[in-house]
Amino acid sequence: MTTPTQTASYPEDDHFHDECGVFGVYNHPDASALTALGLHALQHRGQEAAGIVSFGGKHFHSHRALGSVGDNFNSEDVINRLQGPMAIGHVRYSTSGGTVMRNVQPLFADLVFGGFAIAHNGNLTNAHKCRNELVEKGCIFQSTSDTETILHRVATSEYRKVLDRLIDALGGVEGAYSLVALTRQKLIGVRDPSGVRPLVIGKIGENGYVLASETCALDIIGAEYVRDVEPGEIVVFSETGLQSLKPFAPQPSRFCIFEYIYFARPDSVIEGRNVYEVRKNIGKELARESHVEADMIVPVPDSGVPAAIGYAEESGVPFDLGIIRSHYMGRTFIQPSDNIRHLGVKLKHNANTAWIKGKRLVLVDDSIVRGTTSVKIVEMMRNAGAKEVHMRISSPPTTHSCFYGIDTPNKEKLMANNYTVEEMTKHIGLDSLAFISYDGLYRAVGEPARNAECPQYCDACFTGDYPISLVDQDGGAQAQLTLLHEG
Ligand code: SF4
Repeated sequence: MTTPTQTASYPEDDHFHDECGVFGVYNHPDASALTALGLHALQHRGQEAAGIVSFGGKHFHSHRALGSVGDNFNSEDVINRLQGPMAIGHVRYSTSGGTVMRNVQPLFADLVFGGFAIAHNGNLTNAHKCRNELVEKGCIFQSTSDTETILHRVATSEYRKVLDRLIDALGGVEGAYSLVALTRQKLIGVRDPSGVRPLVIGKIGENGYVLASETCALDIIGAEYVRDVEPGEIVVFSETGLQSLKPFAPQPSRFCIFEYIYFARPDSVIEGRNVYEVRKNIGKELARESHVEADMIVPVPDSGVPAAIGYAEESGVPFDLGIIRSHYMGRTFIQPSDNIRHLGVKLKHNANTAWIKGKRLVLVDDSIVRGTTSVKIVEMMRNAGAKEVHMRISSPPTTHSCFYGIDTPNKEKLMANNYTVEEMTKHIGLDSLAFISYDGLYRAVGEPARNAECPQYCDACFTGDYPISLVDQDGGAQAQLTLLHEG
């Protein structure tokens, strides 16, 4: 995907959405079963489709399907068909183009050197340009995924060895990518030179290795965390063990700071930092920066919980569950009219009326995107008798779209792009509203402050400081890119 898209699959869920998770296993007799479990732990990174490709010594095997991992990899039959000691897998979040089978990953092709499977988390920012060049060369695209661009570039590279072909292919693409690839002999993992999306290495059994978007996917299979793949690094697992290559020109690391705020699972550790702890730190910073007199700190469930705990600890005001979320409401399932949409939010969240009546509340949430959910939640709190409703947000105002693999509304739809904080306060119906400052956020991840000259993280959706050039956008290709998606 190179164009920000409407969060069409979750119209009532006012969040940015991560678009994919990847997983891979090398040298384990249960590679596919482990991959299914790993993908299950990464389900929060994409629920619309899942796929696994394995190599069984002679043949590649593939199972890709729409729906969740649990829906599709729940039988021994399926897992037994995915034979072999090596496998890669992918979970995918859909965009406005909708999820269609031809876009479900991993993608697989028989190339001149043999079978090659690839799965990708991120987004190429010059995908349209690359695709045009490849189509002119005669490549026939089967999907609308920018991952297929990498596949064709590998296929048409003039180098002989697969690694040289992959390096050649990636040398011509720009954007954010953490990818896993499988050949007959190798499991390969790559992080883009800016390291925008996460990828970690684990060890399992005697000589088995694992690649995963997050450490929570290592934990589920009992794999031992080894280290993060470094920005710009290619790791190769083969008979000779683990090989590390750094073929690209070094770039300043610009990991996505929003992974810490919202996307990653709180039990994951990314680049040495526990996500839950960072979220609690953000809550503490928020309390130091913008505390108001209140009776209760209330998280907007579930993503606001760690920051609300940190806020409560720092402020000394009790943490309580003033909003209860139904865990059986994956998405709003009826969407034919505005009235019913409104009902949808109530299905998902409900006020804990007896507990909040007459109280001064500080609601803690991770972000405000379009503001639709915030308006409804505040209204719900007022209807339940809250005396005052304040809101504290554990990200700075989201004023820009993401082009690096996160599903976001167009900039024009972002509330903070259209209104000042004061106007947002009024529009949402709050007594007060405050966002974490840039420096407060950076302190929470362990930095002294944001380095304005060369920020330590990607924070472009807050600052508009895009670390990787937006080639297709700058070339005015936006209109043609609405179907190009990668997760
Ligand atoms: S713009 Fe940067 S910080 Fe924001 S979601 Fe995208 S990658 Fe993350």
